[in-house]
Amino acid sequence: MDGELIKKINDLAHNHADEIIELRRYLHRNPELGFAEKKTAELVAAELGELGLEVKTGVAQTGVVGLLRGELEGPTILLRADMDALPIQDKKEVDYASRVEGVMHACGHDAHTAILLGAARILSGVRKNLRGNVKFVFQPAEEGPGGAAPMIEEGVMENPLVNAAFALHVDSSYPPGEIGLGTGPINANADEINVTIKGKGGHGARPHTGVDALTICGQAIVAMQQIVSRMTDPCEDVVLTFGKIEGGYRRNVIPEKVRMEGTLRTRSDEIREEMYRLLDQVLKGVTSAFGGSYCLNITPSYPALFNDGEMADLLEDAVIELGEGFRVNRDLVPSMGGEDFAYFSRMVPSVLFRLGTGSDERTTCSAHGSLFDIDEKAIPVGMKILAAAACNYLEGELDGKNRNKGEEPGADFSSGQGDCEKPQGK
Ligand SMILES: [Zn+2]
Ligand SMILES: [Zn+2]
Repeated sequence: MDGELIKKINDLAHNHADEIIELRRYLHRNPELGFAEKKTAELVAAELGELGLEVKTGVAQTGVVGLLRGELEGPTILLRADMDALPIQDKKEVDYASRVEGVMHACGHDAHTAILLGAARILSGVRKNLRGNVKFVFQPAEEGPGGAAPMIEEGVMENPLVNAAFALHVDSSYPPGEIGLGTGPINANADEINVTIKGKGGHGARPHTGVDALTICGQAIVAMQQIVSRMTDPCEDVVLTFGKIEGGYRRNVIPEKVRMEGTLRTRSDEIREEMYRLLDQVLKGVTSAFGGSYCLNITPSYPALFNDGEMADLLEDAVIELGEGFRVNRDLVPSMGGEDFAYFSRMVPSVLFRLGTGSDERTTCSAHGSLFDIDEKAIPVGMKILAAAACNYLEGELDGKNRNKGEEPGADFSSGQGDCEKPQGK
């Protein structure tokens, strides 16, 4: 980027910062859950419309897409924000606290939406310098069940064809001005596991006449954790968590079945498939040892998000060019969380970076907590980094191929006897 363009980006970010912070506060007061982001989508569409962008609404229900065509011919870069809030009661005492009972922006998606609208203002302001197009994607339901995949199915990567993508996520572990940037798989494949242990019901005082699904379930949980600690390579990342057990009637009745719901997190596809096989092997062994049976069903959820190395370099260059003492921390510790920007990263070279938003006690609460908040000084920082990275990409010579393309999302896995009972809803 030339010095004049950098100055324009910095000036535009400065000029729009207050309004975009106000906009973030409006969104924070008015959070909406996944696939119910109606007012948010209306606001986004109105903002993009005012900038003269080509706007599409109702993509994957509540998603919004704005297209900015640059003055000069070139590739298309996609910038993505998520819009959904969480079913959490806001306990902050600030004037922009949530006004919706039991719903809160506890993951910073309000800031993501506002920042991307800010980046849209900046990039519209430098349209005559743009050598290509910018597609602004505001997706629903990142917290589940996911809005990225359905938006892709509805054609968001086409017309014009998207060549690369950037996104950010707020992160209270870095201060404003600092960003966290990793390459390769920066988070996990997330799989949903449903297990039903089957026995034979009976009287609690005559256990030998039945097959106690509940004690088998207890053994099975311990045995399955032993897979992680004793049967997989300790240098491979695996997390297995069962968060819900359901079964039984009353204290003196032996239940004939117990259901368990869990999540499996892995970073490599080999270890993921190995875990499927070992879970089946252990469940088969434990249940048959006590005369019971089982049903195992695994549904892949978000795949691991892959950050492309060259795209990360390009983003870092943009941050350095912006100056002002920003810091890029390239040693981002990968997380075992899920993030559905992963679906974009599987299709085109992509980067999601962590935007530092934590500076004091108020702004370093962890995401998904009822006191979560951000240091709003990070908002103009995010706006200009996204804008500068987009300009840098459009000026660059990347070949558009995804060099470290994500693993395939995986297919359903079922074993055991009979149909597993799947949980109601999410
Ligand atoms: Zn979240
Ligand atoms: Zn989030």
